[in-house]
Amino acid sequence: MNCPKCNADLVKKYYKGMIEVDSCPSCRGMWLDFNELDKLEDVTFDDDIHKGSLVHFQSKTRYPCPQCGMGMDEFQYRLYDLKLDFCAENHHGFWLDAGEDDRVMELMRQRAKDIQRKVDAESAWGRTLKEMHLFLKKK
Ligand SMILES: [Zn+2]
Ligand SMILES: [Zn+2]
Repeated sequence: MNCPKCNADLVKKYYKGMIEVDSCPSCRGMWLDFNELDKLEDVTFDDDIHKGSLVHFQSKTRYPCPQCGMGMDEFQYRLYDLKLDFCAENHHGFWLDAGEDDRVMELMRQRAKDIQRKVDAESAWGRTLKEMHLFLKKK
């Protein structure tokens, strides 16, 4: 598979001990396969996500899905101000640009500090990925 953004060959990588992802050695983005996301721990559905208020669909992009080559759609995950591309046509997975996951992890660490509670940012991020996946699957 090739990177949708820069066309480099994607390399398999085990991400934060959770799932296998295809990462780009050149632009450092990564492809998250929906089948892989199924392996993440189960989550209880947040009502907000059910209603879709946290996820906004933006527009078509010119970036091809690395699996089927169809143009991906862009959506915004408002809670973390994240913009992601996903395969709207065949639901193969979604694309995360370099550093976006780190930004989310940082926000989660910050939030954990604010509420004076020890929260594992990595498992919180895993849950977020799973939530987005469940939401997109319903489309
Ligand atoms: Zn790339
Ligand atoms: Zn696809």
